[in-house]
Amino acid sequence: MQTQLFEALEQFEPTMIALRRDFHRHPELSFQEVRTPERIANFYAEQGIPHETAVGGRGVVATIEGKQPGPTIAVRADFDALPLQEETTLAFRSIHPGVMHACGHDGHTAMVMALAATLYPLRDQLQGTIRIIHQHGEEVFPGGAIQMIEAGVLEGVDAIFATHLENDLSVGTIGFREGHTLCAIDEFEIIVHGQGGHAQAPHKTRDALVAGAQLVCNLQHLVSRRVDPFEPAVLAIGSFHAGTAPNIVTGEARIVGEIRTFNETLRHQLRQEVDLVAKTTCAGIGATYSIDFTTGYPALWNHPDETKLVQEAASFLPEASVRALTPMMAADDFAHYLTHVPGSYFFTGSGYTDGRVNYPQHHPQYEINEQALLIGAKTLGATVLRALKPKD
Ligand code: MN
Repeated sequence: MQTQLFEALEQFEPTMIALRRDFHRHPELSFQEVRTPERIANFYAEQGIPHETAVGGRGVVATIEGKQPGPTIAVRADFDALPLQEETTLAFRSIHPGVMHACGHDGHTAMVMALAATLYPLRDQLQGTIRIIHQHGEEVFPGGAIQMIEAGVLEGVDAIFATHLENDLSVGTIGFREGHTLCAIDEFEIIVHGQGGHAQAPHKTRDALVAGAQLVCNLQHLVSRRVDPFEPAVLAIGSFHAGTAPNIVTGEARIVGEIRTFNETLRHQLRQEVDLVAKTTCAGIGATYSIDFTTGYPALWNHPDETKLVQEAASFLPEASVRALTPMMAADDFAHYLTHVPGSYFFTGSGYTDGRVNYPQHHPQYEINEQALLIGAKTLGATVLRALKPKD
C-alpha cells in the first residue's frame, strides 16, 4: 500500500505545490484566518472527504475511516502566517501587505491536504482511522492547539504526528529526535513604578529608568548564576522603554522578555526568580513594580516508539537521508498535543543545495525548496501507515 500511496503522492505533487502557492499568496494572521480554512474545507468537499469546519474556532478536521477497525492516527498541520512584509520576488508572493507565510505553514497545510487526498481512495485497505487536523493560530500565545484539543480532536487518538519544514536542513533530509526536541516558552512584562520629577532634584524622585536599567542587567545573572549548567535556559530581554527628555526623571519603565527552558521545574523556578530580582532591584531604588507572565507553550517531548516509526518511515525513502537532531531552543504548540497522546514531530529539510541563500524562518526573504513537500508528505504518509498497523 505504501507504494500505491507514494505513486499517488507523486502524481499529486503539482496540485500540492499549487495549493502551497495559493496559501502563500493569501497569508492570514493567527486567529484571523478566514480564507485559509475555507479553502481547506472546499478542497475536502471537492474530494468528497468528510470534514468538519470551525473546530476549536477556525480549525478544519478531515476524517478518513478505514474499512476495518484499528487505531486512530492523527496528523496535524498549522496554517497561520506572520506579521512580516514579504521581500521575496516570487510570482506567488503575499498580496497582503505586512503578512507573510514565513514559517512554512503554507507548505505544512499543502502536504497534509495532499496526504489526505491520496489516502482517502485507499481507505478500503486501511485498518483504522486517520484524523487530519488543520490548526489555526500556532504563532501567537496561547496557540490554537489548546482550542483544538478542547474541541475534542484528540478523543480516541492513539498517536499524533506533525512535521515542520526546516531550511537549516537540505532538501532530502528528514530530522528526527526522541525526547525533548523544542523548548517551553513564556513571556513576561515588568513595569517599574517610580516617582517622576525634575532632573535638577533627583533626591525628590525615584528614577524608574535607573531601576529598569539595573533590572535588565540583574536579570542577566539568573541563567549564569542560578541555573544548572546542564539545563538549557534562555532569558532574553527584547524591549526596554523609559523616559522622554534629558531633564525629566521618568516615573515608569517597561521591560519585556522571555524565558525558554526544557525542564518544568526550572521553568517554574525562573518565573519566581525573575519576580524576586524585579522586587529586590526596584526596592533598592525605592521603586515598586508589577509583573505579568504569559504562559506560552510547554517543551515538546517526542515519544520514543512514535519517533522510531518516523525514523523507520523516512529510512525507507530512497530520496531521504535521515538525521538525528539535537534539541532546539524554538517552540511549537504541537507540544500540547504530545502532553495528551503519544506522537512525534519531525523536521523536513527544505534548504536549497544549489548555493543560494537559505533564509531562516521568520525572515522577509524566507523561501522553501518545494521539492521538500513531496518528501515530507511521503514521510508523514509512511509514518501513518506504520502507525496503523496493529502492534505485535
Ligand atoms: Mn512554525
